[in-house]
Amino acid sequence: MLAEIKGLNEECGVFGIWGHEKAAEITYYGLHALQHRGQEGAGMVISDGETLKQYKGLGLVNDVFKDANFSELKGNASVGHVRYATQGDGGIENVQPLYFRSQTESMALAHNGNIMNAYKLRGELEEEGRILQTTSDTEVLAHLIKRNGNQVNETTIAEALNHIVGAYAFVILLEDRMYVALDPRGLRPLSIGKLGDSYVVSSETCAFDIVGATFEREVLPGELITISDKGIETTRFALREQRNMCAMEYVYFSRPDSNLNHVNVHASRKRMGIELAKESPVEADVVTGVPDSSISAAIGYAEECGLPYEMGLIKNRYVGRTFIQPSQELREQGVKMKLSPVRGIVEGKRVIMIDDSIVRGTTSRRIVRMLKEAGATEVHVRIASPTIENPCYYGIDMSTRKELIAANHSVDEICEIIGADSVAYLSTEGLENAIVKDKTLHQGICKACFTGNYPVTERNQKAVTNTES
Ligand code: AMP
Ligand code: SF4
Repeated sequence: MLAEIKGLNEECGVFGIWGHEKAAEITYYGLHALQHRGQEGAGMVISDGETLKQYKGLGLVNDVFKDANFSELKGNASVGHVRYATQGDGGIENVQPLYFRSQTESMALAHNGNIMNAYKLRGELEEEGRILQTTSDTEVLAHLIKRNGNQVNETTIAEALNHIVGAYAFVILLEDRMYVALDPRGLRPLSIGKLGDSYVVSSETCAFDIVGATFEREVLPGELITISDKGIETTRFALREQRNMCAMEYVYFSRPDSNLNHVNVHASRKRMGIELAKESPVEADVVTGVPDSSISAAIGYAEECGLPYEMGLIKNRYVGRTFIQPSQELREQGVKMKLSPVRGIVEGKRVIMIDDSIVRGTTSRRIVRMLKEAGATEVHVRIASPTIENPCYYGIDMSTRKELIAANHSVDEICEIIGADSVAYLSTEGLENAIVKDKTLHQGICKACFTGNYPVTERNQKAVTNTES
């Protein structure tokens, strides 16, 4: 049984580039493309071959870099990060990449994922007399690498990674080289691309399209890649395991124009909608999706059941996390910031409302009420993923079991709580069919938050070192 205490999540995006004279500028555009992966902080560290320079701040990428003078951020290599902070850890010191100076070499680290044994490792490091400056998991890796006065190289990184249990995608930048690593189960996405002669690395392939790079390949589970002016070298720090790419990356987290493990996110979401319509059809007049993440699934659902897909809900795209939210009193008067129903579409209609997932149930309850107030005669909720009954320990902010509505209520009870006329979820088989389109290309997904079957636990991730690629 896994403990209910989660480590600090790093539900984030990483981007890196090697060998380009406009490294900082390209990193800025790369981070902009990854903005959906984290809105609380952004940063980059640039190398000019001799020194590293850091630029970071709290807020959206545009806010953080609005005063940046890119002609002063000179260097041919850079690593960047967008951060999604969970409660209580939103300070500037936790904004990445974390930057460590030493007399011999400096190092910057950017991380997406969650180190499950970070608390234990932190205790061990503190006992050795090390003083950690942040509450971020990422700092633990830096100290593990530099333990015993080690230099940073493939062996010391591999050794450090073999002490870590969890899900992680790391990019490490030094003055004259860059390292890229993915956890042995490949829970988080990470890809390599080319931009002319330069190498780029990104959490999601959508960033390659935006900077004009071409996709080369996915980083493999347990792979450690070194990029320098000599080119690219690969080694393995862990035996290759069954891949377990996070299913929620497809369901909700990633951008529709990204490909994960050779599968396009929009296409997989559309197939989730098709599977859902096959499993749970219902008589209605229109199908609508909750913008933005549910639109692909709603299109698939409508197509499969032969009903019109309509824009029954509109999202105000200018509402950010930092926007002043209306008080409870104003909210009750009907002030809606993020979503509004389109009365002309839903009035007098039986509406099928597709959402990608239900976590706590708050969003669905609000939307059902909104649609009914706008005149919908019936609201049938269809969820394009299975019931989330288990917390995520691998870096997606998915609450504790106590807060997960499906962990504590049956589907019938959920229907009553959110005030819908009917509720149905996609089955786990349906989800798998939608994602694992081509079994020869796709090796497997993590579905632990739906099934409770966790692919990585402190017990099953043994320290295995095998430096053969
Ligand atoms: P709720 O049920 O109100 O907690 O929120 C569910 C909504 O949040 C869904 O419509 C998803 O689009 C979105 N969502 C799903 N997973 C996450 C997550 N890990 N972090 C933030 N939002 C999420
Ligand atoms: Fe993704 Fe769920 Fe697995 Fe976490 S538990 S990695 S959210 S599929």
